[in-house]
Formats: sequence, structure tokens, C-alpha cells
Amino acid sequence: MEFDLIRDMFPDYLEEEELINQEDRVTLYLRSRRTSAQCPHCKEPSVERTTYFTRRMQDLGVIEKPLFLVIRLAKYRCGNPACAVKVFCEQIEDFAATKARRTNRLNQMMTAFAMTQSAESTARKLEDIHIIVSGDTLLRLSRKWNFSVKPDMVHAVSIDDFALKKSNDTER
Ligand SMILES: [Zn+2]
Repeated sequence: MEFDLIRDMFPDYLEEEELINQEDRVTLYLRSRRTSAQCPHCKEPSVERTTYFTRRMQDLGVIEKPLFLVIRLAKYRCGNPACAVKVFCEQIEDFAATKARRTNRLNQMMTAFAMTQSAESTARKLEDIHIIVSGDTLLRLSRKWNFSVKPDMVHAVSIDDFALKKSNDTER
């Protein structure tokens, strides 16, 4: 039987490699199925993969445990001789910002929480729903996202928002 949950909850270009369910966490290994990428500098497409790298990040919790992702992505060579970039990393900006250690949907939920109460009490509440985060991280997040979070989003946070959902379905 095909496991549709993974495909529905993550971008189409990520596929499941392995799911490890441990006592204190669930770790999901994903890899990109893309075969080309656009150079972020000159915008030229490339199909020349040079090597692979992995990104680790936390996502919304699942089955009452923190969920960690290990995502295998490619590095591509830019074929444009005029471009200053020789090799670039595959981006998954719609799902997680460059170098971010949390998915966009987790950051959005944490930010909405942090704006309604103190960072320390938010961190404790997030722990209850299996999100591991420090008060300092929440303070940084709420400052960074201050202007992108709409006030009505804060009221829209409900228990449903803690469940996994499609990455492109971030607001309702
Ligand atoms: Zn380029």
C-alpha cells in the first residue's frame, strides 16, 4: 500500500527515504526528486549535479513526538561561463528558508504563539505539543517576523494548526 501521508504533507519534489520512530522523536529522511535547478545568481537552469548535501530541520510534531527532517538535496554546477557562481545549492524556499533549522510552517506557528504571550511561556507550551525551542529563539523569531504576521492569524491558531498540513497551505 502506498503511504500517501508523506506525499500529501510535504512538497511534491520531496520523497520519503526512511522513517525512524524513536522513543523521543520521529526522524524522516527525505530526498529531492528534482533533476534540475535554477542558478540563484544568473537564473540559468542547470542539470549538472556535482554532489549532494543534507539539511536537518525540525517540523511540526507528529504522533506526540517532535519531528525532525533530514533532507538530501543536490548541488549544481552553473553552466553559464559569465556567471560568478560556479556551484550552487538546491533551494527549498517554499518549504524552509535558506539555512533555516525549522520549516516555514513551524516558524509561522511558533511566531503566532510568541506574539500572544511571553517567549518563555510560549516555549513551555510548545514543549507540551512536542516542539523543542528556546525562549531566545522565539524572541528572535517574533522580532524577525514582526511585520509579516497578521494580527488575525494569532486568533486563527487552533489545535488543528498543530497537525501536519501541506506546506503550501499555511493560512486558512
Ligand atoms: Zn549562474
